Amino acid sequence: ERQETISVQACIDYALRLFQSRLREGNITIIHEWPDETLWVKGDLVRLEQVLVNLIGNALQAMKAEPVPQLTLSASIHHQQVHISVADNGPGIPAEHLGHVFEPFFTTKAPGSGLGLGLSISSRIMDDLGGKLQAANRPEGGACFTITLPHSTLTH
Ligand code: ADP
Ligand code: MG
Repeated sequence: ERQETISVQACIDYALRLFQSRLREGNITIIHEWPDETLWVKGDLVRLEQVLVNLIGNALQAMKAEPVPQLTLSASIHHQQVHISVADNGPGIPAEHLGHVFEPFFTTKAPGSGLGLGLSISSRIMDDLGGKLQAANRPEGGACFTITLPHSTLTH
């Protein structure tokens, strides 16, 4: 397991870059909400990026052309915990599914378009990194997935 000091904002940017052409073709509006100061966490950059890629991929699959698809990426720090969230303005998660989305093989997607493993693997990765992953619906509509990780400082 690699242990490095990771810039949360850089990690989000790496993950977003993978979706660059899909974001452009889908006319997706990206909203960034994060402080100017770099937020640092410790862990394996590749694994944190993998979690973000899973969350962004799900968000893009959930959104339709109408209303104008909007992906919100936020990062903040509160009580020495860093919160990273990926939110969309899709249909959200039905209340009866909220308790099941992290179960292996839980999927509402057509056969072939989703194995139902992304969130269960992502949640395991976050546990391994000493953090957690939570699912919620936004009051204004759409789903919001939040990663929580202990804040770290940059040490040389
Ligand atoms: P998959 O994407 O293969 O279905 P995941 O583990 O990534 O598997 O997600 C499990 C399920 O959680 C999805 O099938 C969907 O029902 C729900 N889900 C995940 N992300 C979202 C989202 N952004 N909006 C609505 N539902 C979601
Ligand atoms: Mg998925």
